[in-house]
Amino acid sequence: MKCVLCGKTATKLTKEGIPACGAHSNSKIKKPSCPNCGLEMKIREGKYGKFWGCQAFPMCDGMKKI
Ligand SMILES: [Zn+2]
Ligand SMILES: [Zn+2]
Repeated sequence: MKCVLCGKTATKLTKEGIPACGAHSNSKIKKPSCPNCGLEMKIREGKYGKFWGCQAFPMCDGMKKI
C-alpha cells in the first residue's frame, strides 16, 4: 500500500482507513468525488486491495484508484 498523499510506502492508516505514511497519517486527506454522480467517495476494499468507491454503491459503481 502506498501513501495517498506522497506515494511512499504506507505504514499507517488514517482514522478513515486511508493508507498513509507516518508523516501523513494525521493529515486530513481530501476525499475525491465520484466521477459518475459527484458524491463523496469512501475507502472500500476489494480483491485487488483498497480503492475509492462511491458512497452510493451499489446504486452507483463509480470508483477511483488510490
Ligand atoms: Zn505520505
Ligand atoms: Zn457515484
